[in-house]
Amino acid sequence: MSDDDGIPECVYCYNDQGVCDRFPHLQNDRFFTLKLEYIQCHARPYVLEKLGFGLDDFENVETRRAHLRTKHGYEFLVKFYNAVDRSHFGCSNWEALCKSYGFEEGMHIRFDIRPEDYDDDDNIDICVDVDMPPVLPRSYFLSSRNTRKVVDNINYNYDSKLNCEEKGYLVSFIEDVEAFKNSHSISPNYTRYMPLVHTLLDDNFIAKNLRLLKQVVPDMLFTKGDMHMVSLRPTPSEAYHTAYSISSNDGRLKIKEWSKVMNVHTQIIGDKMNVRKPQVGDRFMSILHYGEGPVYLFYGILARREE
Ligand SMILES: [Zn+2]
Repeated sequence: MSDDDGIPECVYCYNDQGVCDRFPHLQNDRFFTLKLEYIQCHARPYVLEKLGFGLDDFENVETRRAHLRTKHGYEFLVKFYNAVDRSHFGCSNWEALCKSYGFEEGMHIRFDIRPEDYDDDDNIDICVDVDMPPVLPRSYFLSSRNTRKVVDNINYNYDSKLNCEEKGYLVSFIEDVEAFKNSHSISPNYTRYMPLVHTLLDDNFIAKNLRLLKQVVPDMLFTKGDMHMVSLRPTPSEAYHTAYSISSNDGRLKIKEWSKVMNVHTQIIGDKMNVRKPQVGDRFMSILHYGEGPVYLFYGILARREE
C-alpha cells in the first residue's frame, strides 16, 4: 500500500521513504530504521552479521534471538526471522516492546546497532533509539498475565488519564487487591475486574454519593445492597461500610456513604507516604469486587500531578 503520490513501498522491507536502494549502509555507520517490523534492505546485512549470520547464511530461512533495549531501561529478547530476501522481528516480546511505547503500524522506528557501550563481539544488543516516553511501566511487563489484563481494562472518568509512572501505581494497586483477597480468604470475582480512575472534582466533596460508570459495574450485581469500601493504602486497611444502588436509567452504581471516604484524614496518597485528606484533582482509583460473599470496593488515591 502507498499514498497516491507517495513513493512505492519496497516489496522486501516495506519501506516507503525512498531509502531502499538495497546498497548496504547504515545511517552514521550505526543507525537503521524499520517500518512495522521489517528491516530495511540496506541495513539487513549489518543486522544479520550482528546476530551471527555468516556471509553464506544471509538467505537462510532461520529464526534467531536479538536482545533489544531502550534508554529507558526496557529490555526484550525478541525473535528475529530471516528469509531469503527479508528479515523481521516478531513474537510476543516484540509485541510487548511495541506496546510499551505505543508503536503503531506504519511507524518508522530507529535502531542503533552500535550503541556507545558497544565493545564486545558477543554483544547482540541492539538499541531501540526512541525519544518518545514509554506509555507502560516496566512493572507492567513483569506482572502476572491477570494483572496485565486488568490494567488493559482501565476506564477513566473525566480527564483522568494516567501517565506511565502512574500506571505503575495501578499495577501495584492491582497486586495489592490480589494479596488482600488471599490474606482474607475472599472468594474469586465472578467477572473480570474493570478498574476505574476518577478525578476528584469540587462536586465530589460536597456530594453525599459517588456514581461509578456502568462499564465498571459487574454484570448480575444485585441492584441494591451493601458493600465494604477498603483502602489498600495503608495496610492493614481500614474498611467502611456503605449501601449502594444501581440506577435503572443509566446503570451507574451509586455509593451512598461516599462522604466517609472523602472525610478520611489519614489517607495515604499515592506511594510517597503522603498522608492527608483527599483533595480536588486527586485521582480516586477503584476496583469493584463481586464474588461469593460481600461486595468490596477496593480503592486507592493518587495525588494530582503537580505534587
Ligand atoms: Zn527494501
